[in-house]
Amino acid sequence: MTQVLARKWRPRNFTELVGQEHVVRALTNALRQQRLHHAYLFTGTRGVGKTTLARILAKALNCETGVTDAPCGKCTACTEIDAGRFVDLIELDAASNTQVDNMRELLENALYAPTSGRYKVYIIDEVHMLSRNAFNAMLKTLEEPPGHVKFILATTDPQKIPVTVLSRCLQFSLKQIPPQQIRERLTEVLAAENVPADAASVALVARAAEGSLRDALSLLDQAIAHGGGKLEEASTRAMLGAVDQTYLYAILRALAARDGAELVAGAGRMAERSLSFEAALQDLASLLHRVALAQVVPQSIADDDPDAAAIRELVQAFAAEDLQLHYQIAVQGRAEIGLAPDEHAGFMMTLLRMLAFAPAAGMPAAAATAVPRARGAEGQSASAPVVTTAASVKTNPASWAELVGQLGLNAMAHQLALRCEMTARMADLVELRISPADERMFDKPYRDKLTAALRQRLGAQLKVAFIAGEVAGLSPKAITDRKTGQRQAAAVAEIREDPFVRELIEDFDGSVEDASIKPK
Ligand SMILES: [Zn+2]
Repeated sequence: MTQVLARKWRPRNFTELVGQEHVVRALTNALRQQRLHHAYLFTGTRGVGKTTLARILAKALNCETGVTDAPCGKCTACTEIDAGRFVDLIELDAASNTQVDNMRELLENALYAPTSGRYKVYIIDEVHMLSRNAFNAMLKTLEEPPGHVKFILATTDPQKIPVTVLSRCLQFSLKQIPPQQIRERLTEVLAAENVPADAASVALVARAAEGSLRDALSLLDQAIAHGGGKLEEASTRAMLGAVDQTYLYAILRALAARDGAELVAGAGRMAERSLSFEAALQDLASLLHRVALAQVVPQSIADDDPDAAAIRELVQAFAAEDLQLHYQIAVQGRAEIGLAPDEHAGFMMTLLRMLAFAPAAGMPAAAATAVPRARGAEGQSASAPVVTTAASVKTNPASWAELVGQLGLNAMAHQLALRCEMTARMADLVELRISPADERMFDKPYRDKLTAALRQRLGAQLKVAFIAGEVAGLSPKAITDRKTGQRQAAAVAEIREDPFVRELIEDFDGSVEDASIKPK
C-alpha cells in the first residue's frame, strides 16, 4: 500500500461522502436547481470532512460538463482539483496565514476573471483564525462579490467568526460520524483493499476514531501495519491500547449479581495482564454510557455491532439509576486514580465503591453494632466526612427516598431532605451528605426540623450528621432530575428520528428546538 488509506479513500464526489447526508442533500438540490450562493461556511469538529466537501463543491462548480451535483471526475478541472493543482482553486489555511497582507493580495486577485475555470473558488480552512483586519478585508469582497468568485469557508469554531461575515455565508454544520457508519465504510475499504479483518477489530477502530472518518482511516493504516497486513482483534486492541471489553463485561456482570468475590477476581485477572487501570476506568465509564444510552434508545446499538449481545444483556441487568451511579463512580475513580497508593488499588476501590452503593435488598444495616464517633452530629456540619467502613454503609438512594416520603415534612425541610444523600445509617446515627451550596441555602432551622422528624420516626436517641461536601448525585432530587432528563432525551431522540420531522429539517434547512419538546 503505497498511498495512505486516508488519502486514497478520500471521497471524490457527494455520493461517497459518509455521514453528512443532510448537508449533501441540501447542496445537491441547490446545484441541480442552479441556486448558487457566493459564500458557504462548513462547520464541524476536525476530521468530519469539511475540506473534502469544499473540494467536491469546487469540482461541482467548475466541472466542464457544467455546474452539477455529480462532477464527472474526468475533465481537466475535476482531475486538476483532485490533484490539487487547479489554478482557479485557491486553498489557504488561516492557521498559517493570519497576515492581512496575504488576504489583501488574495482578494485583489479575486477581481480578475478565472484563468481556466468557470469560478474562482477560495477555500479558507480554519477561517476563525484570521485576524480582525483580514476579516475586514474579506468582508469588503463578501459584500460585493464579483460574479465569478465563490468562497468556501471551513471552521471548527464558528463562534469566533464575526457576525458580519457569518451573516453573508450559507452555513452548514457537519456532524460527527456515528461509529456504525464509520464501521460500514471501513468494512468497504478493507474489502476493496483485500485486507482480512474480523468484525471486532473494525468496531474497535471505528470507536477509537471518535466521529472522524479521516482518523478512522489513519488508525486503520496503523492497525494493518501493526497486524502485519491483516486485522485481528488482539493486535488491534494492543495497537489502540484498548482494554479487552470481556474483562469489563465480567466486572459489570459481577456487579449486577452483587458478587464481591467475582468482582475482585475480575480485577485480579486484569492485573495479571498488566493492563492500564486508568484506561480501564475510562473504558468502563464509556461502556456504562453505552448501556445507559441503549436503555433509553435501544436503536443506539446496531444489530451487527459485535458488542450488541453483551450490551443488551447489561441493559436488562441494571436499573437506570444504578448505571448513572456506577458511571459517576467510575468517572470520579478515574479522576482520583493518581491519588491512590497504586493504580490497581485505585481501580479496586472504585469497584468496591460501586458494590457498596449498589442497591441492597431491604435494609439490614440498622443492626450495625459499632457506634462511630459522633463528629458533626446534631445538625452541625463537619468539614471532613465521617469515615465509615463498607460493612456499616448499607444505604442506598432508594431507601433514603422512601424514608423521606414517610417523614411528612413540608416545604423547605422537605426540599432539604430531597437534596441530601444518606451516606450511612446505623442504629443511632444517620449521616447525610449535602452540597455546600445547599447547606448555605438550608440553614440550621431547616436542618433541625429534618433532624426532629427523623428522631420521631427512628428514635429519640438518633444522631443526624450533616456533612457539607462533594455529593455523588444520589439525592432523591438529583435522581428525579436525571430521570426527567432521560425522558426528555428520549423524547428529543424520538422527534429527531421522526421521518416527517427529518424531511422538514432537510427540505427547509430547519432545526429542532430541543427545549420545545416535552416528554409524553
Ligand atoms: Zn468534470
